[in-house]
Amino acid sequence: MHRKLGRNLLVALLAAQVVTVLVLVLLSGRISADAEQVHTSQLLSSSTAESAEAVRAHVEPAQALVELTAALLSETDVESETLEQVFRASLIGTPQISGAFLGTPNQDFIFVSRDGEGFRHKVTTVDGTARQTTIGEFDANGDLTSQFEDPLDTYDPTSRPWYIAADTVENETVWTDPYVFFTSQQLGVTVSRAVLRDGDLIGVVGVDIALGSLSEFLADLEISNVGGTLLFDSSGTVLAHPEEELLQVPDGDGFRPLSILEFGDPYAQSAAGAFLTGDESVRQGTQNFEDDLRGPSRVAFESVQLGEAEWIMSVYAPVGALAPELNEARTQERILAAIAGLLTILVFLAFLLPATRKVDDLAHTASTDELTGIANRRSIMNDATTLAAASGPRAFAMLDIDHFKNVNDTYGHQVGDEVLKTVVDRLNASLSDSSCIGRVGGEEFLILLPDQTEEPAVLACEGIKASVSRDPIPTAAGDVDVTVSIGVTSTSGPQTTDTMLSNAYSALSRAKRSGRNSVVHQDIENSTLKVA
Ligand code: GH3
Ligand code: MG
Ligand code: MG
Repeated sequence: MHRKLGRNLLVALLAAQVVTVLVLVLLSGRISADAEQVHTSQLLSSSTAESAEAVRAHVEPAQALVELTAALLSETDVESETLEQVFRASLIGTPQISGAFLGTPNQDFIFVSRDGEGFRHKVTTVDGTARQTTIGEFDANGDLTSQFEDPLDTYDPTSRPWYIAADTVENETVWTDPYVFFTSQQLGVTVSRAVLRDGDLIGVVGVDIALGSLSEFLADLEISNVGGTLLFDSSGTVLAHPEEELLQVPDGDGFRPLSILEFGDPYAQSAAGAFLTGDESVRQGTQNFEDDLRGPSRVAFESVQLGEAEWIMSVYAPVGALAPELNEARTQERILAAIAGLLTILVFLAFLLPATRKVDDLAHTASTDELTGIANRRSIMNDATTLAAASGPRAFAMLDIDHFKNVNDTYGHQVGDEVLKTVVDRLNASLSDSSCIGRVGGEEFLILLPDQTEEPAVLACEGIKASVSRDPIPTAAGDVDVTVSIGVTSTSGPQTTDTMLSNAYSALSRAKRSGRNSVVHQDIENSTLKVA
């Protein structure tokens, strides 16, 4: 029974430790999940910001060309030929520029555009009703290969959207909506700016930008392998996507760009759809969205402001694929936490096992009689209290060695100790399994007999008495004859420990008085003595 104390303590402490380790492992998972959310969001945001920066870098040369030319023309007259050369040089150095031009209020028009590997110049001069259009074709080196008149040309720059838009705002650079260029069939936009001299409009400079290379750039982004990228304008028209062929559809004689809502990539639709249908807050940071095919995903938006126009760069990916190395790190972290937890438990056990043994030892020492190894007074009294309070038949027997003082006096205290030990051995040997015994005084023992009514209790005590005295006890000083007296009491009703003990004691003193080496029973209910 005392062994249990240490074991219970061990189990309790171990359970506490396991719970602690589990909590730590789960917590580390939660913390790293939070860290992952932050990290992948940052990854997505920075990837989006970089892409938006690339978009800006892509269109900036065109804007710069428009603004420089407009500034130059507002200061001074420039020969048509010089302006053509400036435009052609810009096209050579800037692949995304597909055409540069100047239109004036009287419908003069200078236009340099790509023509295969070379360039095409178109110059229209209008003087009253007289109008002349000259086409010049140049090779890749800038050498004129052919030149001819085009009397049928009726192009009126002042009626074009890029001219009207620039004319309306005057001191700003303006951007058209995306459209498909008629000659190249490329998706692009036009950036333009009014040229003012002394407050008067003397023309509008425009530059066509092809957006095709932006799609190539998006396809090259690392993120495109696991997720997607989409550039669109604020009205939802798609400007760039890694699959360039998805960007435009046939429309009449030519092509037209697509809106996100009709775009052929459903993942891009569900990602960018959040921007179109959501409120302002959607444009900040990253957003989670659910895709039918790829599951939980995240998207980040970055605005590219171009004058009044706004383009939006979006980058999106399935949450799980965002940072595979992070997921791996998280798994490793969990394994490490589990191993650390197990090691802690092992170390804990290594320290705890001896400690619980010590607890067991202490508990044993505290309840055991040092000389004889049986229960000490405190311990047997505890058991006596438990048994007294129990129901059913039960008996208490008080045993005392007869004339023990004589043994000490005759052979010495040491031999007395030897005799005590042997008596206890003989008592232990003659006790039934359910009975227990404790040393309550020098040579006095309490024997508890559960489930025993008077008769079997007395019989048991007779057996005990006989087992002690049957043979002399061998000691260092020779054989010693020993007898014991036993007072026994039994009950079936409720009793206090004190009543049981005092009845057993009075039976014992009766046994002593009646000449020792005997068993006396005292009936509690009738308080009558019976000498066995
Ligand atoms: P009675 O038959 O009336 O019980 O006589 P008794 O001599 O046994 O009783 P008494 O109470 O006069 O003496 C008990 C003796 O037991 C006194 C004490 O010296 C001895 N004793 C008590 N504890 C120990 C012990 O641990 N070792 C030894 N050797 N003697 C002990
Ligand atoms: Mg005695
Ligand atoms: Mg005594």
